[in-house]
Parts: sequence; structure tokens; C-alpha cells
Amino acid sequence: MNNIYVTRASLPTIDEYMEEIRDIWETHQLSNMGLKHEKLRDELKAYLGVDNIELLTNGHMALELALQALNLEGEVITTPFTFVSTIHAIIRNGLKPVFCDIDPDNYTIDVSKIEQLITNKTCAILPVHVYGNICNVDEIQRVAENHGLKVIYDAAHAFGEVYKGKGVGSFGDVSCFSFHATKVYNTAEGGAVCYKDSDFGKKIYQLKNFGIKNEEEVECVGLNCKMNELCAALGLCNLRYVDENIKKRKDITTTYNSYLGNMPGIKINHLQTDLVGNYAYYPIVIGKDYGMSRDELNILLRKHGIYSRKYFYPLASSFSCYNKMFDINLTPIAYQISQSVLTLPLYPDLSIDSVERICELIINRN
Ligand SMILES: *Cc1c(COP(=O)(O)O)cnc(C)c1O
Repeated sequence: MNNIYVTRASLPTIDEYMEEIRDIWETHQLSNMGLKHEKLRDELKAYLGVDNIELLTNGHMALELALQALNLEGEVITTPFTFVSTIHAIIRNGLKPVFCDIDPDNYTIDVSKIEQLITNKTCAILPVHVYGNICNVDEIQRVAENHGLKVIYDAAHAFGEVYKGKGVGSFGDVSCFSFHATKVYNTAEGGAVCYKDSDFGKKIYQLKNFGIKNEEEVECVGLNCKMNELCAALGLCNLRYVDENIKKRKDITTTYNSYLGNMPGIKINHLQTDLVGNYAYYPIVIGKDYGMSRDELNILLRKHGIYSRKYFYPLASSFSCYNKMFDINLTPIAYQISQSVLTLPLYPDLSIDSVERICELIINRN
């Protein structure tokens, strides 16, 4: 039997992609905000239901440039339960991450613990919509307004979601998306920032193109992270299938839930109220009652060719590159979840038969 991996990139047919890139061979414009880039920007703006959007080479650069364009200084309150990119973006901007613990039910930042971390150096909050679960955006906004802080969401897991009738990219000052191959929607590599303030948008546009203002003037020390035309063309194709793919993800999630929802020692993820979800991941948290540890279950599944991931493990704050700067004991819930979470395979082409086979292995523990 073929191996099953935790995810598999979605692609259009090769013919559809060839058709989409045909005119690039006529114009010879491969990058620098060409026709595909402009078209994708308009389509994504509409699809995501946001006021403004800029396309970039990847989600990491969206985070890094957003922090730079906001001209921040000092401390940024964030979560350790994230991909390392979030923390790198803060540190690479000369800012200091301050780690807040997470909510044990939805794994996003615990808003009730943010205020006690605010000092006179705090400039921003950088929460993450983990697994497509939405942060408590209303409370975060309230805290940010009370203390004059910027809010930058890492929305890499939240593509296409709608919360309380609004596109999820419209919360906070800025939301950053990733269109990496492994995400719900991909442009091979790609990313975007969604934002409210038009001056911020101009800054991002300049920064992503070396800080160039015009042919004779360079206004800021930018870099190069423009989305190229081949990636934008793939994005145009993939956008046509994203709703269908999310529907397939939902069916797979429903199947997993029906098998694992009442299993002792296994905690499943529940869709939040008022949220149109994207079913990006299928995390389970293994408790004592299960009779096997997370690591043992992971190994068991691997023996059967099923490659789950311990995602997010270890905590981002604990990586050796940060030289033990951060104390993981200060975020005990995040630590405990990272020790017991396992993300099961979930992608649109995953067959329901495979899902049932995975569930049977988990239920029978052998
Ligand atoms: C994928 C991801 C990123 C980085 O996005 P890239 O497009 O891979 O650069 C950042 N944060 C989170 C939470 C992610 O999952």
C-alpha cells in the first residue's frame, strides 16, 4: 500500500496550467507585477473579502515585511505554539518576542493572559490562527486599543475563512497569509499581506521591490519578494478549485470526527461558532486515557506507512537558534499541547477509505 503523508499539494491539470501561462510566452513578462500578478491580486482580494492586499514570494516575507513596514520597536507579544517563521520574523526585525500561553481548547493565544505581559516596551501583538481556529479577535482588538498596540495576525492557516460574516484577513491592522505548497491554497510558494491603511500598503509595495520609488529614487532599504508570474498563474488556476477542495476537507474531517469523536483519551478539534472553516488540519491531542503516548501512536502509524506530524512540536520558543533565551515553563499549556498533539493526514484527494483505515489503527492501537 502507498504511503500516506500528512498533506499533498493541490494542483490543477497540467493542461489548465499550460493554458494559463500561454500568454506569458507572448509578453515575455516573468515578474515585476505583470498581468497574472495583477489579476491574482484582484481575485484574491475578492475571495478573501479584504479591503487591500499585496502579493509576496511567501508567507514568511509577509510577516517580516509587515513588521518592518509598521516601524515597530521593542516587544511583541506572541505565541510559542506556531511555526518558527512567526518568531524569526519578530527577531529578524530587531524586536523581542514575549511569549503568551495558549487556550487549551483552540490552541490560539490566551487573551486573558496578554495584559499581564504588556510593558512600556510593548508595541504589538502577533497572534496566530492555529489550524484554522480563529483567535479571539474581538478581545485582542479591545486589549490592543486600550494599550495603543498594533495587531498583526499570522493567518497562514486561515485561508478563505469567514468569521462573523467577515473575511478573516480583515481583522487587526494586518493579516499575513501563506500560499506555500502545503497550505489549503497554494501558488507553489507565495504569500500576501492584507491591511487597512493605504500608506502601509505603499510601504509594502516599495519594500518588496528593493524600496524603489521610481527610476531615480530608492526611498527605503527594501528587498526582493515580488510574486512572479508563473506562481501567480498557478494561483489563478488553484483558486478555481479552492471551494471544492475545502468541501472535500470538510467531508474528511467529518469522517475522522465520526470515528474519533468519542474515543477515550483523544481530544478532537471542534469548529468554532460563527466560523466558516477551511478544515486546514486535523489535530488530535492524546490524553492519559488513550493507553499509548503520542510518540508511540506516531510510530505505530508510520509502521503502516501513515506519516502524521507532531505539529507544533517542539515549541517554537525552544529552538536552539534562540540560545535558551525563552523559558518554556512560562507557557505550560502550550508546552503540554506540544507534547501531546498529532496532526493526521488531511488533503482533498485523501480517500475516505484511507481515513477509515487510519481511524481503525488509532482505535485498535495496533
Ligand atoms: C507556513 C507558515 C508560515 C510561513 O509561510 P511560508 O509561505 O512557508 O513562508 C508562517 N506561519 C505559519 C503559522 C505557517 O504555517
